[in-house]
Amino acid sequence: MTPLSSAPPISMPDLKRPDRLAAPEEVARQLGFTRREFLRSAAGLALGRTVFSGAFASSLSASTLLSRTGIPAKKRKVVVITFGGGARDQETFAPEGQENIPHLMRELIPQSTFFTQVVNRGILGHYVATASLATGAYETINNFASLPPENPTVFEYFRKDLRRPASDAWVVAPSNGFNRIGESNNRSYGPGLGAGVILPKHLLTAATSGGRADYQHLLRDNYETPFYTPELGGREFQLQQLEMILKLSVDDFKKHALTLSSPDELSVYIARQLMRQLAPSLLWITMHDIDIAHAGAYSLYIEGIRRTDRLCADLWKTVQSEPEYAGNTTLFILPDFGRDADDDSGGNGFQHHRTGDPLSRTTWLMALGAGVRQGVVYDRALQSTDLVPTLGSMLGFSPSLAQGKPIAELL
Ligand SMILES: [Zn+2]
Repeated sequence: MTPLSSAPPISMPDLKRPDRLAAPEEVARQLGFTRREFLRSAAGLALGRTVFSGAFASSLSASTLLSRTGIPAKKRKVVVITFGGGARDQETFAPEGQENIPHLMRELIPQSTFFTQVVNRGILGHYVATASLATGAYETINNFASLPPENPTVFEYFRKDLRRPASDAWVVAPSNGFNRIGESNNRSYGPGLGAGVILPKHLLTAATSGGRADYQHLLRDNYETPFYTPELGGREFQLQQLEMILKLSVDDFKKHALTLSSPDELSVYIARQLMRQLAPSLLWITMHDIDIAHAGAYSLYIEGIRRTDRLCADLWKTVQSEPEYAGNTTLFILPDFGRDADDDSGGNGFQHHRTGDPLSRTTWLMALGAGVRQGVVYDRALQSTDLVPTLGSMLGFSPSLAQGKPIAELL
């Protein structure tokens, strides 16, 4: 590691005007480098030395896990948060954006190992991209159809290899379109081996059927195609989830929902309840408020970023204060993808992610908690598909069909 004080002076490339003629890999590299410098100067992070040790990483055994972290494999927990819809650096890591993410900058990043260049080579739609993150393989399913992922999900690998019960893996997802994300249609895995999926909006719809007017601000399903909201049945099942699993009465849930300002707040409320009642070892929470950017209102997009920043810190506090999680949990935060560049005519800057340009593909990842070094930043290129193999090495399962590689710096 190179201490900050001895780092050589660096000339910064202009983030807002990356060389549009450069190859996509070069633009992504520049972006990762610039992001690293933003963090290094603002948060005083050390620069990590990249180590390549994939071979040993994929063969870690449960006993190795114990010696590396001091935590028995059975007690180890992982929480993954997807950082809702993607935001540009201008509104986050760049000097002018840092005021929007005070919790990330001051509390979480200094405690984390941070990767500034995570490239998503897949389809940039929220459901299909989140499914790709969860399978470790670039999924090609229709983003706007109610279909399961084609490759086994992390939840299936985890539960099948480690023989974990259904109560040990859960997803809290933002819209009805995510209802199939818990398990794939792969023949060796699939039904009965995946994660339970909780759709807080669906719960709220079930709880308030007949009188939803007061809850409209929480029920908007999708910011990209407002007319696409798959109708899901199962009101009985939803109310059963609420009362049997989350231990919330319909009335208490409705009353609490009225105090919340956004769908992501509702998701975090549900996730916290799940942590207290079932304490799953693998918990996946997908945020989505930032994606209101599609509506074109910059102020709402900024509000979404600030809220997501706060909610990530709130969840980290919950991890540290819940006895089942404190001290044995690794938290991962990463966006599903970014947003288009300002100077791309098809993209409209902050508003969309439709051009597939390098800025919309180059995101970041932070890990903090059990087994993770604090205050280190790396800018070598990772891929979105590396997350699942990393979780496999950490928890001791084999994601045999994932395309990515374990991130050696986290193992
Ligand atoms: Zn979107």
